[in-house]
Amino acid sequence: MIELFDLRGQYFELREEINAVVMETLAAGKYILGPRVRQLEKTIAAYCGTPYGVGVASGSDALYLSLAACGIGEGDEVITSPYTFFATAGAITRTGATPVFADIDYDTCNIDPERIKNRITGRTRAIIPVHVFGQMADMDAVINLADKHGLVVIEDACQAMGAEYRGRRAGSLGHAGCFSFFPTKNLGGYGDGGMVVTGNDNLAARVEVLRAHGSRSKFVHESMGWNSRLDELQASVLLVKFKHLEMWIEKRKALAGYYNQLLGEVVNIPREMDGNRHTYHLYAIRTPHRDTIKTYLQRNGIDCGIYYPIPLHLQAAYRHLGYKAGDFPEAERAAGEVLAIPVHPGLAFPEIEKIARLVREAILNA
Ligand SMILES: *Cc1c(COP(=O)(O)O)cnc(C)c1O
Repeated sequence: MIELFDLRGQYFELREEINAVVMETLAAGKYILGPRVRQLEKTIAAYCGTPYGVGVASGSDALYLSLAACGIGEGDEVITSPYTFFATAGAITRTGATPVFADIDYDTCNIDPERIKNRITGRTRAIIPVHVFGQMADMDAVINLADKHGLVVIEDACQAMGAEYRGRRAGSLGHAGCFSFFPTKNLGGYGDGGMVVTGNDNLAARVEVLRAHGSRSKFVHESMGWNSRLDELQASVLLVKFKHLEMWIEKRKALAGYYNQLLGEVVNIPREMDGNRHTYHLYAIRTPHRDTIKTYLQRNGIDCGIYYPIPLHLQAAYRHLGYKAGDFPEAERAAGEVLAIPVHPGLAFPEIEKIARLVREAILNA
C-alpha cells in the first residue's frame, strides 16, 4: 500500500530526535505558549521573511484571528476561492462577514484575479487568495487590486509553506499569512497547530491578544478574544521537523518532476507558473478519466484523493448564500477532473514509476 501521506514512516525516520525533544518538553514543565513556541514563531517568521510570527491553535484559527485582528466582521464581505478546504470560507463566516467567491484559473486552480474584479462591492473589506496544492496565487495582480480598492490581503498559505512568488516566500506578501501545522501539511505536527506571520506590528500584537482571551497581562482583559494557543509539545516537534523542511520540499519537487516526465503525455500535469516555486503539498493531475484512474489505483494499493469534490459555493452549509451549479464553471470543472497522487518525500523513484505506470494502464483501459 502506498499512502497519499506517510506520517508513520516520517516519524520512524526521525524517531530518536523526536522522542528526545518530547521527553525534554515533558520534563521542562511548561506546556503552553512557552520558550519552544516563541522559538518556533521566530524560526517560521524568519523562514517566511516576515518580522512577526504568532503561534495559534490551527490554520483555521490563523485565518479567523487574522480577519478579526483586521476588524472584519458583520456586514463585511471577503472575497476568496470556491476551490479550497472549507476552513478558508468557514473562518470568514465565523467573523460574521460573508464569503464572496471568485472563480479560479484553469492552469493553477488558484483564484483568478480577473474574476475578483467584478466581485468587489462597497462592502468588500478583504481578499483571501489560497495557495492551493503548494503553488502561490498570482499575488501581484491580487495586491494591485487590493491596493486600488483599499482592501486587506490575507494569504491562506496552509498548503504552501516555503512556496515562492517572484523570489518572495508565501505568507510575506499579504498583510498576513496563515499556516497550518495539521499532520499532513508539508510541515506538520502531531496534533493541531497554526501560525500567523506578518510584517505589521499592530496586526501581530492584535492576534497575540486575541489568542489569549483579549489579555496582555494575566487576568486583565482589554477586549474579547478566545483560546487559540499553540502548545510546547507541538512546537518542539515542529522545530525538529523544520530542519528537514527544505530537503523535503526539494524531494517533493524532484518526484513531481519525474511524474511530469512519465505522465506529461497522458494527463494534464500540474502547471508551474513562471517565477513560482511550487512546493507540491499535493501533486494534482487533471483528466476526464479521473474516477476510473482513482478506482484502478486504489484497487492496486495506491492511495489517492479528490481535492476538492464539492466546491464551496455548492456546499449545503452555504446554501443560504444562494449560489447554484454553473456559477463558477472552472471550480466545478476542477472538482470533476482533479486527482492527487502520492508525492510525499518518503517515496522512492521506482514507486513513482509504478504509480505512473498504473495511471497509464487505467487510461488505456478506460
Ligand atoms: C489545512 C488547511 C486549512 C486549515 O488548517 P487547519 O490547521 O486544519 O485548521 C485552511 N486552508 C487550507 C487551504 C488548508 O489546506
